[in-house]
Amino acid sequence: MATACIKKYLIGDQQYPFFWNYQMSKKTILIVGGVAGGATAAAHARRLSEEAEIIIFERGPYVSFANCGLPYYVGGEITEKEDLMVQTPENLLCRFNLDVRVMSEVTTIDPNGKRIEITAANSNEKYWQSYDELILSTGAKPLKPPIPGIDRPGHFTVRGIPDVEAINGWITSQKAQRAVVIGGGFIGLEMAEQLQKSGLQVSVVEAIAQVMSPLDLEMAGWLHKELQAHEVALYLGDPVAQFNSPDKKEPAAASIVELKSGAQLPADVVILGLGVQPETGLAKNAGLTIGEKGGIQVNEFLRTSDPHIWAIGDAIEVQDFITHERVLIPLAGPANRQGRIVAENILGEPIKYPGTCGTSILRLFDCTVASTGTNEKTLRRLNLQYEVVYLHPPSHATYYPGAHKLAMKILFHPENGKLLGAQIAGQDGVDKRIDVLATALKAGMTVHDLEDLELAYAPPFGSAKDPVNLAGMVAQHVVHHDIQNAQWHEVDNLNPKETILLDVRDNDEHGKGFIPGSKNIPLPELRKRVDELPKDKEIIVYCQTGQRSYFACRLLTQKGFKAKNLSGAYRTWEIAKNNNL
Ligand code: FAD
Repeated sequence: MATACIKKYLIGDQQYPFFWNYQMSKKTILIVGGVAGGATAAAHARRLSEEAEIIIFERGPYVSFANCGLPYYVGGEITEKEDLMVQTPENLLCRFNLDVRVMSEVTTIDPNGKRIEITAANSNEKYWQSYDELILSTGAKPLKPPIPGIDRPGHFTVRGIPDVEAINGWITSQKAQRAVVIGGGFIGLEMAEQLQKSGLQVSVVEAIAQVMSPLDLEMAGWLHKELQAHEVALYLGDPVAQFNSPDKKEPAAASIVELKSGAQLPADVVILGLGVQPETGLAKNAGLTIGEKGGIQVNEFLRTSDPHIWAIGDAIEVQDFITHERVLIPLAGPANRQGRIVAENILGEPIKYPGTCGTSILRLFDCTVASTGTNEKTLRRLNLQYEVVYLHPPSHATYYPGAHKLAMKILFHPENGKLLGAQIAGQDGVDKRIDVLATALKAGMTVHDLEDLELAYAPPFGSAKDPVNLAGMVAQHVVHHDIQNAQWHEVDNLNPKETILLDVRDNDEHGKGFIPGSKNIPLPELRKRVDELPKDKEIIVYCQTGQRSYFACRLLTQKGFKAKNLSGAYRTWEIAKNNNL
């Protein structure tokens, strides 16, 4: 057998050994938490070392289950509970020789003695287990702020299989008809969709002015519209004041949800989707450093402040890939990747975790929204330089049936064109565009590169100029100063002595709705009627989606007019205005 090769790596001012020859590694690796990050770390560790002793401790009854699938089990799209179980302890033992101990809560870490204390839920037996390396993948727990009545019966959080079984049981036993979902994040909206599809009357209550905080306000408008279209009552900017017990006047199985505005919502079932917070109790008690955002602090190799304790997943703070801020990004993809990296760092060659860009996607009825990278509100908060363009290309060639318009928002550096973030809403083709943009962003590409990407095209799937290529072109016009843009929030209360608004859509489109104060000259008539426009005023031009207004701007600029294009055009302005922005 080959000799183990130990290399020393400098991290901070300390040296740590990394073992290269996995066959020689007889380490004992203990893992706390056996779902996304923990199970991945364990399986990868086994692939790196047949010799290592690997034990997973999971507090709950299941390991490696699909928490992302839980809402769809409530709605009946996933019918069998077993389908949520990606792996069982028996499979993990059989396939990977992993010792999986469910119903086993790790209650103490003794970093000096390199051991942990475990309490077995079934027997209440406590015991200690020693480790060479410890991985914490304890996840995040649902937030439960101290709102009066929050623990009333019929109120549920959604984290594990027992939660969704309890929700289904309650809905059936109470013959629930009205659901109130508190919180408009991923879990809240997925639950709202599934409960509505199951036939319940659903309300969503959100404390701030928009759902889905990774999106900017105007892009969240597409979700607000979709909720309204599916008769889900939406209460924005109206936090819950208290949960009252039902009475004869307002009977309900769970609560009367009272909002700050005074609105009273009778609920037969209440879903608490108020966000999550990193589960750090164990780490804190062990004296590990906790970061400013409340997650376990790790270095770029995912090592905590203790050299033999590593942490991954929802429990840790990560570095934002674009802004380099420390952030909490509780998503399954990063947890899985970190699981592999941490196994490599313990048993293989050291790998740095490059940071998270928060790529995420949500389906809400017929609308899909997705985002990657940084949003505009963060760029503004950090006072970073950026430009923004909106566009509304069709999801595939319009001559082929079934194309739907996408709404895309692209954020990029104004000088070098580096991609900073993207948000997309639409009915079809959102997933593939966001993934291309997420890949481009991670590769450090610019909007110039986007134009150049060679993407698959046949009429059912895309266009010869894919929406991603078009996004690159539209953004490049701004970087190259080919065109000046105005934004949707800049066209209200314009001073008519200085600026006029020009609508270049056809008369019938204008007749169906327009931005107040705008003059309508359809694009085909513009050359003939150009004398109707003043040369001494700024002209903000718009159409329906931004293409015709771009042509009009080019024409007007070349004729000596001071023209600006309204980015995203009437479609972006309208969705923002419907949001009362
Ligand atoms: P988890 O997978 O949560 O695992 C942590 C485990 O640690 C838990 O099972 C817990 O019981 C256990 N544990 C904690 N403390 C102890 C202890 N002291 N002793 C023993 N065990 C302990 N992400 C997406 O990217 N896309 C989605 O569509 C998506 N949908 C989601 C839907 C729902 C309903 C939920 C709840 C989450 C969803 N997520 C989604 C988030 C994703 O599931 C998490 O980001 C991911 O599971 C995090 O992995 P983790 O290993 O850090 O934590």
